[in-house]
Amino acid sequence: MAKTTDPVSAPAGATYSWCDWHKGPSGTAVLVDVIEQGSGPGVTRYACAPCREQRGLVPFSEQQP
Ligand SMILES: [Zn+2]
Repeated sequence: MAKTTDPVSAPAGATYSWCDWHKGPSGTAVLVDVIEQGSGPGVTRYACAPCREQRGLVPFSEQQP
């Protein structure tokens, strides 16, 4: 019996993220803010491209300390 490699059928295409600014799914949302809390895990916030443009948000990965 030949065991074929299982083609894991991942849904091709965009993986949608959530935009915390317009409160909806977005294909362009990136992490822009991490709110550290005293206890428990920090809160992460994602914004999509249009929201980042409107609000002048900078992606977390591009922010300089
Ligand atoms: Zn948005």
